[in-house]
Amino acid sequence: MATTTREPSSAGTVPWPAEAAARYTAEGYWEGRSLGEHLYTAADAAPEAICLVDGERRLSFREFTERADGAAVRLRALGLRADDRVVVQLPNCWELVVVTVACFRLGVIPVMALPANRRREISAVAALAQARALIVPDALKGFDHQAMAWEVAAETAAVEHVLVAGPGVRGAGVDLRALCEPAADPAAARRELDDHAPEGAAVATVLLSGGTTGLPKLIARTHNDYAYMIKRAARLCGFGPDTVLLAVLPLGHGFPMAGPGVLGTLLSGGRVVLAPSPAPERAFAAIERERITVTSLVPAAVQRWLEYRATGPGAGTDLGSLRLLQSGGARLPDPVAREVGPALGCTLQQVYGMSEGLLCFTRPDDPEHVVCRTQGRPICPDDELLIVDEQGEPVAPGQPGTLLTRGPYTPRGYYRGGELNGHAFVGDGWYRTGDIVSLRPDGNLIVQGRDKDVINRGGEKIAAEEVEEFAYQVDGVRRAAAVALPDPELGERVCLCVVVRPGTSITLADVRALMERAGVARFKLPERLVVVDELPTTNVGKIDKRALRSAIGQDLATDRAGHAG
Ligand code: AMP
Repeated sequence: MATTTREPSSAGTVPWPAEAAARYTAEGYWEGRSLGEHLYTAADAAPEAICLVDGERRLSFREFTERADGAAVRLRALGLRADDRVVVQLPNCWELVVVTVACFRLGVIPVMALPANRRREISAVAALAQARALIVPDALKGFDHQAMAWEVAAETAAVEHVLVAGPGVRGAGVDLRALCEPAADPAAARRELDDHAPEGAAVATVLLSGGTTGLPKLIARTHNDYAYMIKRAARLCGFGPDTVLLAVLPLGHGFPMAGPGVLGTLLSGGRVVLAPSPAPERAFAAIERERITVTSLVPAAVQRWLEYRATGPGAGTDLGSLRLLQSGGARLPDPVAREVGPALGCTLQQVYGMSEGLLCFTRPDDPEHVVCRTQGRPICPDDELLIVDEQGEPVAPGQPGTLLTRGPYTPRGYYRGGELNGHAFVGDGWYRTGDIVSLRPDGNLIVQGRDKDVINRGGEKIAAEEVEEFAYQVDGVRRAAAVALPDPELGERVCLCVVVRPGTSITLADVRALMERAGVARFKLPERLVVVDELPTTNVGKIDKRALRSAIGQDLATDRAGHAG
């Protein structure tokens, strides 16, 4: 196989300034240990405790660590070395957790993609990360991930291996299940991997940004920063060996994986129960059967759970073990927040965060007005917040503005971010979140909106620009603007507004078909098309999306009233 030049990951990262790094180390945030070392310390404390449940499969910490070490040894036998990147695109399954930890042990860097991603996203990510391997399911929801992976491999010079989870491994694909068997001599594998553990400052994993630009940006998280965030989050949530986490959101997202999520549970000596989706039918049964104590959801799923509890067969399920329900990824409406405690019998925790770093929580013992009306406060005393107006000047206390942030687990630039970094990271290394927030005198944030051109569909972020790029490829489209359409179920959906050339007509199906053919994740496809005579513009000639949203909002309301009449 041809070898290609790959940069070391250090060439693509923006390090924290020496002064900040020294401070974070002196404060004890950065411990200089790898995620594997943290995790194995917890595992060694109770090797026979069950730590991972996936359907019928129940792994003890002993079996889990032996499998992770076995996978690490076999990844190395494939030629993978510390600092090599691999794209991991798996549904919530035990192999995902085992192979992720195997990468941490070896120093190989898992780049966390979502099962919903398609060829366009995976190939862009694989190319940017210079990935040497792709890890995919055989097929999922009728989609042949294996075939896609081989197409990506064919066009991406660095990719040498395709690893496949599931019984249908074909051709030259490597069987992930076999790879995750314990090593022939588990004790020897353990010793050897312990001796070569990655350094705390090394990159542990790469996350994909929710993105304002067409394709995902990459966020490199070090062992030091990720371990700090996870452990601190776990402590604030009261995690310990009695924690039983139900993981229902896709684990490619940082929130269910590390906020404190799956990794926080394992690092605390607790148990993770995996579920394929947040559908309440299965999740409620799992809570009752496995005595789940905590879970994390996006607001759209919180609403479905509340409905299922109020009107569905979920009314009779014993949810008595559930202590904490985290909601994050999008704004939870205050009235919904107030319903959670009484309906589900647990404490609500609002989570506001981002793959780029900053994580805010309401605390489990906060008063109701904090838990139900705010998105919480940073988890670290050294998380810095700056709220600025359109000129970049700090706003008066309590006033809304764009949130900028820095801190011990917020990197200072995107991985191989190039000139994008200049826009997203401003001044002295501040990450510009693009979220409009206000800060209450008690230190809690309220997320009021955003100034970035992103649509938040039930927690999945869609860059308007990407949808527009495709719209312009449809014959007859002269101007295009994608905007968020408020939606009672998902919060927002993608609405595409177009101006067409006189005499032409286009349909929603045209745009969707074009995007599907281009291999775009389905959640990005517009769900509504509005043809307009012109698009409103601001006085500098840019499309005025705020005006457009309110205009189409009115049109659609009239539309609905018309239908009702
Ligand atoms: P991601 O990196 O995909 O998790 O997306 C991060 C973005 O999700 C943030 O910058 C916010 O725009 C949005 N977000 C996350 N949590 C919340 C929340 N609790 N309320 C409002 N928006 C949120």
